[in-house]
Amino acid sequence: MSGVGKGITTASISKILEGRGFRVSPIKIDPYLNVDAGTMNPIEHGEVFVLDSGLECDQDMGNYERFLGRALPPENYMTNGMVFKHVIDKERALGYGGKCVEPVFHITEEILRRVDEAVKKTKPDVSIIEIGGTIGEYQNAIFIEAARILKLRHPEDVLFVMVSYLPIPGKIGEMKTKPTQTAIRTLNSYGVHPDIIIARSEVPIDEKRKEKIAESNGVKKEHVISAPDIESIYDVPVNFEEDGLGNLVLKLFGIKPKKKDLADWRRMLKRVHGAKKEIKIAVVGKYFKTGDFVLSDVYISVIESLKHASYALNKKPVIEWVDSETYEKNPKKLKDLENYDGVLIPGGFGSRGVEGIISAIRYAREHKIPFFGLCYGMQLMVVEYARNVASLKNAHSVEVKPKTKYPVIDIMPEQKELIKNGHMGGTMRLGGYPAKLKKDTIAYGAYKANNIRERHRHRYEVNPEYIILLEDKGLVFSGTSPDGRLMEIAELSKKEHPFFLGTQFHPEFQTSPTNPHPLFLEFIEACTKQQKKK
Ligand code: GLN
Repeated sequence: MSGVGKGITTASISKILEGRGFRVSPIKIDPYLNVDAGTMNPIEHGEVFVLDSGLECDQDMGNYERFLGRALPPENYMTNGMVFKHVIDKERALGYGGKCVEPVFHITEEILRRVDEAVKKTKPDVSIIEIGGTIGEYQNAIFIEAARILKLRHPEDVLFVMVSYLPIPGKIGEMKTKPTQTAIRTLNSYGVHPDIIIARSEVPIDEKRKEKIAESNGVKKEHVISAPDIESIYDVPVNFEEDGLGNLVLKLFGIKPKKKDLADWRRMLKRVHGAKKEIKIAVVGKYFKTGDFVLSDVYISVIESLKHASYALNKKPVIEWVDSETYEKNPKKLKDLENYDGVLIPGGFGSRGVEGIISAIRYAREHKIPFFGLCYGMQLMVVEYARNVASLKNAHSVEVKPKTKYPVIDIMPEQKELIKNGHMGGTMRLGGYPAKLKKDTIAYGAYKANNIRERHRHRYEVNPEYIILLEDKGLVFSGTSPDGRLMEIAELSKKEHPFFLGTQFHPEFQTSPTNPHPLFLEFIEACTKQQKKK
């Protein structure tokens, strides 16, 4: 089922094989019809992760990149929408030479062609392909069929790993294996036989239950791997190794196991578990209140970035969510921001809760609470500064107020045309772009580099017409596009504020637990100083 940990399992298998010296390449398959994840509301599907190429994809790609500490190419991601679109477009262009185009064959071949493309691009020893969804549902069946064909064509080279949940019903208090046994049988009916079963549960699975599952699946007990709930997702690769997964995969492939080397990773885990001193961060935004979505999924990269930087500085981050509309209803609540060591405003879209966010930014600026704004957070930081320091009354972003008198955040010219013509999917300014940094700024001090490359996802920008005025009033644009047209980082000098900085890009898309992002490190450092001051 969703949320059971297939993404972390895939990332962890990748990590342990990489730790054994193999080149790995994780691939994510999503069964929905959206051509990419960019058009989906994060409340429904969680965060939209952006690759360096600009492809908007599932948050699991973020997990893979964070575990491996490197960027992945767009070939490593596919959706049902991408696959079908390609086949249908090709059919419309007479690309199938008059043949009857059918899901089973033409779609499965397209899936396998894409896997092949990823392999050509990344040249791995092992590809780890995650098929999203749940066994038994219709929408991922075509991918499982493609996987079955893959195994048929390369019997020695394909292993199936099934991630299954073993519930411990409250009243019964006993771990139940039947749902897993039934799921295995369902998978068998597709012609697929799992070689390894990852047994997800609240607690480690005991030997008796391992035996039960092994027996019903016709594999050895050692092929059932325990995956209990843990404190940190970064423990999973090490736990898997301890339960023998690395050796097992290599044995089943007939590859000679190389020595384990997760030394860096283990050092990082020591810091994860050793950090005791708390650092309190308020994340102020709007995607907080709805039915049953998992909040942390909406901002997973932001949360992980805060964790990575905190652990590196021996701090334990305590992240609290503040719904910005609270400040609109009750401005007195702003005072509560004093309880935090730092305030972060993540990316976002639209007008809901925006005035509350702007009030929070003002409060953090005036009360010298470390403040970090990401994308929309940076744009609203500029709006706040324009209104309250540069005296541009009611200045705004045209995204919220198209007819504002002072459009300090304006739509990028090239975006205007796209929106007018209804081209909405995959058309924002997306992915990695270079930027140059100004010396003697917080940004420069953090990166220690003249040139950087960061990932983007936006349609609006700081309006060039207001830059001189804002600079005159003390705002420093410490990072810009190489041609100087786009403002990429805005900050106040350290003399004015301990840390008041916003980025037009998303630094949270380029961080790993063993290599935290420099701006997040700088922010947490400032939060630590703030705590000491208090
Ligand atoms: N809504 C803003 C824009 O499109 C910011 C986007 C974001 O935060 N990712 O420019």
